[in-house]
Amino acid sequence: MSLQGKTAVITGSNSGIGLAIGREFAKAGAKVVLNSFTDSAEDHALAESIAKECGVEARYIQGDMSKPDDCRGLVEQAGACDILVNNAGIQHVCPVESFPTDKWDAILAINLSSNFHTTAAALPMMRAAGWGRVINIASAHGLTASPFKSAYVAAKHGVVGLTKTMALETAEEPITCNAICPGYVMTPIVEKQIPDQMATHNMDRETVIREVMLSRQPSKDFATVEQMAGTALFLCSDAAAQITGTTISVDGGWTAL
Ligand code: NAD
Repeated sequence: MSLQGKTAVITGSNSGIGLAIGREFAKAGAKVVLNSFTDSAEDHALAESIAKECGVEARYIQGDMSKPDDCRGLVEQAGACDILVNNAGIQHVCPVESFPTDKWDAILAINLSSNFHTTAAALPMMRAAGWGRVINIASAHGLTASPFKSAYVAAKHGVVGLTKTMALETAEEPITCNAICPGYVMTPIVEKQIPDQMATHNMDRETVIREVMLSRQPSKDFATVEQMAGTALFLCSDAAAQITGTTISVDGGWTAL
């Protein structure tokens, strides 16, 4: 499928799932805007390599998604936003009574409120263009909970609620809003945790993956960033034009349990 003529803005896209989505959209011919809170040569080089590889325009725009003005500024600087992917996210694991307030505030700001600010800025552009897709990267934790992840679970449930509201506010327009709910996805950060987990549990790689990391993922296999990108691309297709206000789980059966 072709995304030629479309501009996609992907928050938190200098690594992991966001970067894979940027690459997939560029392969389909979209102009892409990558983002994170840093502003390094490597960040800009990522956009340049995607531009070269895919023959499209690709830019990196610095913006801290914990700050409302930066969220809106990112979309404004992009100049167009036919596809908005709200992907930036952080995690902190701690019992609720000792959960640091600054971590709670940061997780709510980056994982949830940024989606509100970017969407508010992008909707007028989508309406002017007569087409739009909002794709929120939520989580299996947008539908279920785990102990010690209060802020993350609250924020991701909030993302699912915001997704439904945005879908209703745009229901009669050619704009859709959906959330992808990944289970455990193999990213560089996840890969780096494996040796520590092996040492902590005194288990070999395969056992730590099956019994510790993927204990809640019935497929006993990680999802891949490419599978997330493929799902996001599908949500941009004509086949998905009537899919709005819903969640798509890509979680190896986690939420079926
Ligand atoms: P990642 O750490 O590679 O990606 C997170 C991105 O957010 C990075 O590009 C990071 O730079 C960016 N970011 C962090 N703080 C930011 C800020 N203040 N402003 C702008 N950008 C910021 O991890 P990932 O696994 O690719 O996560 C992407 C999304 O997928 C997140 O929303 C995460 O909650 C969600 N998710 C991941 C998994 C998984 O298993 N990896 C599972 C479910 C949901």
